[in-house]
Amino acid sequence: MAFIKKTDDTIEKLRILANDSKYDLACACATRADEHRRRSASNKWIYPVITPGGGRTYLFKTLLSNKCVNDCIYCPLRAVSNTPRCSLTPEALAKAFLSYVALGKVSGLFLSSAVDAGPDASMERINRTALLLRRQQFRGYIHLKIIPGASEAAIRQSLALASAVSLNIEAPGENNFKRLCTSKDYTRDVLRPIRLISSLTAPGTGLQRVKHTTQFVVGAAQETDREIIDYSWKLYKEMQLDRVYFSAYQRVGGLEAQEDSRPGNGDLLTREHRLYQVDFLIRKYGFKAQEIPLDAHGNLSLKVDPKEAWARKHPEFFPVNVNTADKFRLLRVPGVGQVLADRIIQFRQNTKIRAMRDIGPANKLLQKAGNYIVF
Ligand code: SF4
Repeated sequence: MAFIKKTDDTIEKLRILANDSKYDLACACATRADEHRRRSASNKWIYPVITPGGGRTYLFKTLLSNKCVNDCIYCPLRAVSNTPRCSLTPEALAKAFLSYVALGKVSGLFLSSAVDAGPDASMERINRTALLLRRQQFRGYIHLKIIPGASEAAIRQSLALASAVSLNIEAPGENNFKRLCTSKDYTRDVLRPIRLISSLTAPGTGLQRVKHTTQFVVGAAQETDREIIDYSWKLYKEMQLDRVYFSAYQRVGGLEAQEDSRPGNGDLLTREHRLYQVDFLIRKYGFKAQEIPLDAHGNLSLKVDPKEAWARKHPEFFPVNVNTADKFRLLRVPGVGQVLADRIIQFRQNTKIRAMRDIGPANKLLQKAGNYIVF
């Protein structure tokens, strides 16, 4: 039976609640795959993030409560877990957060919660915290988690207060979702509110400023990468989500005893990384979901990054002439990213590129690109 932590010490509760928030990576500010798990060295609930403009800032990230009635099998906080439980009041959290803002240690808040008394009871506390902050004239970034099954009224209130919201989809499709959780209904509790948020934040609604993101847990259901990639594509194209995040399922208790033959945590972290690379190829490099190379089981290679895997499957596309290729073709070259493609285009306006050293100092990426280009 779970031990209910009884303490009024906000810092002690924050230590527990912030630690339990580390599985949620769906922060709309984060832009690089490698930053999702990093925390500030000095404080457990402060997370450094890179803003879309390239600057660095810090977010205060925590749960309001880790008491949960649900049974998501991948989650260390599910009802049957024997883990220390506690909650903070909206007032206590708002006060703690504002004290960090006043010290200049954070510029925004990422707030989530487990579900201890129904979706709208949790939403009420999340929204109340945001309301207290806005009433205290806090105008900065607030990311609110939308609890699966939240009512339209609760979602509307979150959107009025937040800079960004996210509801974690967790699995691609109902069949996969059912393997993870029986206490939530995929269509009613997950897809319906995601669709609602998409329509309420569409261009012209007045709420398009609110970023909308979601997250898959990777490797806990028997889902394939193909399913996650296809679902992500739909979320971007049909529901206009701003970002899709991926969180490798980490076996810390529960599923692991019965599943020795399944990939270990290290492989799942590599899989998570590969999915972020695919996400980048789709959002920034013009790849379509159907172009991503997969093995016979519908999974990405753990050994070769997806852009290089695509290049190896398409010898007819190469070599690319760096003096004449347009940006679309340059971006298909393994090792060539947005910055290097722009540098090549700028350099060749004045003079012909004759050798690798003309486009940058020798490094691994340029070495890789050298196998696919001519001058
Ligand atoms: S509802 Fe959230 S906190 Fe509760 S078990 Fe599921 S994932 Fe964990």
